[in-house]
Amino acid sequence: MIWQGVIRAYAPFLPVTGKTPIVTLYEGNTILLSASHLSARLRINLYLKFEGQNPTGSFKDRGMTVAVSKALENKARAVMCASTGNTSASAAALAARAGIKCVVLVPDGYIALGKLAQALIYGAEVIAIQGNFDAALQLVRKITQEHSLTLVNSLNPHRIEGQKTAAFEICDQLGFAPDYLALPVGNAGNITAYWKGFKEYASAGRANQTPRMLGFQAAGAAPIVRGEVVPEPQTVATAIRIGNPASWQGARQALQESKGRIEMVTDEEIVAAYQLVAREEGLFVEPASAAALAGVIKLANQDFFPPASQVVCVMTGHGLKDPDTTLQTCHLQPTVVPAREERILSILEKINVL
Ligand SMILES: *Cc1c(COP(=O)(O)O)cnc(C)c1O
Repeated sequence: MIWQGVIRAYAPFLPVTGKTPIVTLYEGNTILLSASHLSARLRINLYLKFEGQNPTGSFKDRGMTVAVSKALENKARAVMCASTGNTSASAAALAARAGIKCVVLVPDGYIALGKLAQALIYGAEVIAIQGNFDAALQLVRKITQEHSLTLVNSLNPHRIEGQKTAAFEICDQLGFAPDYLALPVGNAGNITAYWKGFKEYASAGRANQTPRMLGFQAAGAAPIVRGEVVPEPQTVATAIRIGNPASWQGARQALQESKGRIEMVTDEEIVAAYQLVAREEGLFVEPASAAALAGVIKLANQDFFPPASQVVCVMTGHGLKDPDTTLQTCHLQPTVVPAREERILSILEKINVL
């Protein structure tokens, strides 16, 4: 059968009926890439679930297809969310498909350019607040409680339901459930969703086990690791620049039940992993995604993983969303020369390819 999105692929596991109008961009079915270079380096079997392959470039499409379909089923005229960027891009795209209005609140100056461009071109009403994500979410929660707009942040349980399909896909692609599942943690909806998905698939007899969940936060935005709200979160990984995660409790449950771990990684470690996965595996991910890989590298260097462990690391979003950060953090620039053969040859000589 031709792939037509996560709702049609996994309907029996989702809160939909024959009457639900399915709003989809045919999200999901993303690759699970065997990372051979990194596996050898870390002495584990590492796979990368590349969620940047979704239609708007992040895993948010999985939850948003369900949230917007249910909003339409319930006759909503508009959806609203707070966002560090990817939620707004996804909500805006699916609202466009549904033919309903979308309002997004983003932190002014702290949203990657590509994500802002997406929300705008899909036709959302984009409001940049002079405050951070946590303040934006507080406003959106209040407004959607008091007015008829539908909240499509991951506090909306339909988001979690859609996002859990990534766990199903991983089991289907591997033919078994991995030993460890690593992912970046911001608002903590995704770690909650993955754990729900793995548990449901195992209960349904479609996976042999459930993995241990490994969550990673940026050191400047690590409320769950530190055990307290971070009032002014800071990190290069803007998608996880969150100081008071809405699904804190869900994360805690996932970590407890799976005997998992949550740790933090520095921005330096994030940027190093960001470059490494591009150079060694050919995968361009956004900085938040690299936080998960930075965490796996850190744990592998502490001999945390038993030999031959099967580890899946979720690469949550596409690197092209945030090219500013690439050029700034990695100090990359092209070599500029006159258009003359000998100048090119001298460079080829220098890098030893002649
Ligand atoms: C939303 C997002 C995250 C964080 O997911 P949470 O569910 O908020 O924990 C991580 N990476 C990317 C690219 C995201 O868009």
